[in-house]
Amino acid sequence: MSKIKLQPGIDQITLYEGGAASVTGISNVVKLSSNENPFGPSKDAIEAFRRVSHDLHRYPSSDQALLRTAIAAAHDLEADQIICGVGSDEVLSFLCQAYAGPGDEVIHTEHGFALYKICALAAGATPVEVKERQRVTDVEAILKACTSKTRLVFIANPNNPTGTMISEAEVNHLADALPEHILLVMDGAYAEYISGFDGGAKLVESRENVFMTRTFSKLYGLGGLRVGWGYGPKHIIENLNRIRGPFNLSAAGLAAAEAAVMDKEYIEKCRLENNRLRTWLAEALTEHGVISDTSMTNFILARFASQEEATACDEYLKSQGLIVRQVAGYKLPNCLRITIGDESACRRVAHAVGQFREGAR
Ligand SMILES: *Cc1c(COP(=O)(O)O)cnc(C)c1O
Repeated sequence: MSKIKLQPGIDQITLYEGGAASVTGISNVVKLSSNENPFGPSKDAIEAFRRVSHDLHRYPSSDQALLRTAIAAAHDLEADQIICGVGSDEVLSFLCQAYAGPGDEVIHTEHGFALYKICALAAGATPVEVKERQRVTDVEAILKACTSKTRLVFIANPNNPTGTMISEAEVNHLADALPEHILLVMDGAYAEYISGFDGGAKLVESRENVFMTRTFSKLYGLGGLRVGWGYGPKHIIENLNRIRGPFNLSAAGLAAAEAAVMDKEYIEKCRLENNRLRTWLAEALTEHGVISDTSMTNFILARFASQEEATACDEYLKSQGLIVRQVAGYKLPNCLRITIGDESACRRVAHAVGQFREGAR
């Protein structure tokens, strides 16, 4: 037995499983398991990345000022209320590290993103799972679960892997009714897919206890570079900056993200194409008897009659070179999460699901 003592919570963490990327023995594989933008990033971001390759010996900026200024300009926010992280994952982790510890509770929803629980446990805090209502965040249930020990409430709006979201009125009600000692974290990883939606930025500006996280990994197509950010009250940003490594983001990540956020035309194009294909795919799947909730994101949560059918369909899709995501770990055993790919990928998925269902009958 080792005498090295582990901090509480760490050994309860279940390792995060990323989406699979290959199927042995099959070529022409399409990866639809990690909600990546099938069109990749803006050309400007690629160009900025190339330019940085001439200066790889230089440390990156530690104040992240250029990127924060570009984000602030694009989203009409205050640059000094922004912090950038190695993916929004790192910002979520800073929040737990700074505001929750042993004996404290961190609320997440039944089908909420796996990182909330991992970050809470890593900080020694106790994750508390709150039921959803038919795969939708239940504000009343969250409020009921709050105690004097609660420090953080994480909700993703829209949520992954359900794709559903709650209305602005419901979010406002949650923020209004939440005890003031609790920090509400609005994870806006998919906020850009909804035209005109601010992801909770206005709430941050009108409250002392609301924080928003965002990412460059989804619509901006930069998952490989790991860039995310948070927007919150100044006192929280100051505290998170105390624990942030001074050079957490690479020069390449900073430069590419800055260029990406300025290319509004490209982002608009990706959003429109995603949303068009999402509607098309949802309808095509419904025609084959596979239903889904209305998704506000870049994926569809396809529902099957049973876990057996979902698993069998996953196997069939794999045999056709289509990699999607099983979400039994998110308490959705009869569902598959399918990222919206490009048009040809969507057609292949619809065709394969159709074939699977015909074989099943
Ligand atoms: C993908 C995702 C993130 C973040 O990802 P990063 O790549 O770390 O920025 C955060 N929250 C949700 C709900 C996500 O789906």
